[in-house]
Amino acid sequence: MKAHDGMYIGGAWRPAAGPDVIEVVNPADEQVIATVPAGTAEDVDAAVRAARAAFPARAATPPAERAARLAALRDVLQARKDEIAETVTAELGSPLAFSQAVHAAVPIAVAASYADLAATYAFEEKAGTSTVHHEPVGVVGAITPWNYPLHQIVAKVAPALAAGCTIVLKPAEDTPLTARLFAEAVHEAGVPAGVFNLVTGLGPVAGQALAEHPGTDMVSFTGSTAVGKRIGAIAGGAVKRVALELGGKSANVILPSADLARAVNVGVANVMSNSGQTCSAWTRMLVHRDQYDRAVELAAAAAAKYGDRIGPLVNAKQQARVRGYIEKGLAEGARLVAGGPDAPRERGYFVSPTVFADVTPEMTIAQEEIFGPVLSVLRYEDEEDALRIANGTVYGLAGAVWAGDEAEAVAFARRMDTGQVDINGGRFNPLAPFGGYKQSGVGRELGTHGLAEYLQTKSLQF
Ligand code: NAP
Ligand code: MG
Repeated sequence: MKAHDGMYIGGAWRPAAGPDVIEVVNPADEQVIATVPAGTAEDVDAAVRAARAAFPARAATPPAERAARLAALRDVLQARKDEIAETVTAELGSPLAFSQAVHAAVPIAVAASYADLAATYAFEEKAGTSTVHHEPVGVVGAITPWNYPLHQIVAKVAPALAAGCTIVLKPAEDTPLTARLFAEAVHEAGVPAGVFNLVTGLGPVAGQALAEHPGTDMVSFTGSTAVGKRIGAIAGGAVKRVALELGGKSANVILPSADLARAVNVGVANVMSNSGQTCSAWTRMLVHRDQYDRAVELAAAAAAKYGDRIGPLVNAKQQARVRGYIEKGLAEGARLVAGGPDAPRERGYFVSPTVFADVTPEMTIAQEEIFGPVLSVLRYEDEEDALRIANGTVYGLAGAVWAGDEAEAVAFARRMDTGQVDINGGRFNPLAPFGGYKQSGVGRELGTHGLAEYLQTKSLQF
């Protein structure tokens, strides 16, 4: 058990203003592994002041120098990748191989992409007789969740650094150790004091203070739609820039011409990875009625194979919440074909990989984000029916389409109300903009679109 007592503010680790701490728990065995300070409005104020003070010099720093710091950050993350993976596994519970392949590797790729973009982006352009400068928005308050603890930090901090902004980060209370490691990496990379600051703490205390602070020019938030709506209202009231990455209930649409077994197996893997705690997970599988029974059989078998390889959920509350959804599915008449509400182990916040068949579009488990290893398989009559079901939630974050012919899948994808669609399996691309239609969010992360979120234009007329 390690008791950490500092927060990274103004380029140094400083003691917190108050005495309160957050216990960090390993969700696989329920042991307390560390404590970190629970920051208050006073700590947030100190961090915002440090970011404010650092901003003018940062905004005047040439893009080439910003790019060099990002390249150094990429290298530090690369050098410390094993430590990152172990830390994520300890506080989030994901299996080590997944922590290495995704939780550690993806942020390195994203940091690398922003090192390149900072060096090559057109921060100045001509528009007729005007020169348009793309200038940093200012001080950014970043609030992140626990499900991809380092990725979600880097997806905000790297573009903000590339843009010339300064940042105060409030990470999730469940995964502050990964955030502390990131702050060490920023320091090691030679990012000037005050440009990046870390305040650990609780959402309604430190998070809210950060969103409300008059010294932040923008709030970038990833998390639940409920909190996102509040952040959006606060930012709107103060006329601040806001970016919101919220929930999802994405559809995996398997058209009749698709390779059914592959589509189902990849679909199940997509939902079960990270124990189902992925906002873009394809938690609704849509199958044509002629192939439905076969798809259900395949999905149940694929989920059963996961058994012991799945990690726990992040905390007891999430475990209870997900089990509640499974019970709700049963109560509303869905047919359980794998898993179920019973805890598979005595210790740790585990939930069995679960598959429901005979799910109809209006059921709670087909409408609400469950955030656990739970797949709903829905039946459609024809393509129009599939489209209606796919688009029939308040969300629109991601999705997938499978077809024998790529053009057929693309034609369907173009009619979906969603921000990202994987065609016949797709591939993660750190340059592709990521973000939601409808209540899945406002704004985009990653690539040039993610960079533009942290920039504002100034036009000079000649
Ligand atoms: P959450 O409460 O929205 O947490 C996201 C971040 O916001 C955390 O840093 C949180 O701090 C902070 N926060 C909470 N209340 C706040 C407030 N009033 N003002 C400012 N910041 C605040 O999400 P959660 O409770 O961890 O998870 C609940 C559900 O959200 C999940 O079941 C899932 O459906 C959804 N979720 C979605 C995503 C996504 O990527 N879209 C990620 C995580 C969760 P604390 O850590 O202290 O709460
Ligand atoms: Mg919360």
